[in-house]
Amino acid sequence: MDILLATRNPGKRTEFLELLGGLPVNVLIAEDVGLSEMDVVEDGDTLLYNATLKAHAYAKASGLWTVADDSGLFVDALDGLPGVNTAYYGGPAKLLAALEGVPAPRTARFECVVMLCSPSLQTEHVVGVCPGQIGHELRGLGGFGYDPAFIPDGYTQTFAEMSHAEKNPISHRGRAVALILPALRRLVEQGG
Ligand code: IMP
Repeated sequence: MDILLATRNPGKRTEFLELLGGLPVNVLIAEDVGLSEMDVVEDGDTLLYNATLKAHAYAKASGLWTVADDSGLFVDALDGLPGVNTAYYGGPAKLLAALEGVPAPRTARFECVVMLCSPSLQTEHVVGVCPGQIGHELRGLGGFGYDPAFIPDGYTQTFAEMSHAEKNPISHRGRAVALILPALRRLVEQGG
């Protein structure tokens, strides 16, 4: 069956497919369903609100079962910033500068809300959390965004020093997708 991922970013589809672990679904993104121009303004105060905005907009426009996600990095010493505004914060170098003088452990967590939305706009959602800390320097060449700054609990490497196979099972997104998988499996079994 077709599932629409509420994104214009082909990289998100690749990652989502990896996390789905072979579930027999055809994952579409905006351009596949004529929604390349779709631009949802993510101006909510919470990840859940923004995920809902995206899920509703894409499901309404496409008439398809839709999965939307929204993530953020919450740093305790910054009272939870950059949080819901992580995408607009200015990058990992700015984050390290903001934490100048703050001793280890500079505790933080990535959070991800994944929402499943029916064509009639009924939703259910899950939250994946990856606790960790912000290092004192940027390390690693892999990944994206704040990966070079973030050291997940139980590890010494940053996300950017890990392979996909190492990061995916423990990441906020990996954990959230694992939590929504039973609902997706049910959907596939029922044929939508
Ligand atoms: P999005 O909601 O998945 O687009 O995430 C919002 C922002 O959070 C992104 O633009 C990244 O800066 C940051 N972010 C989310 N997930 C990750 C991750 O796994 N590693 C590094 N940065 C991330």
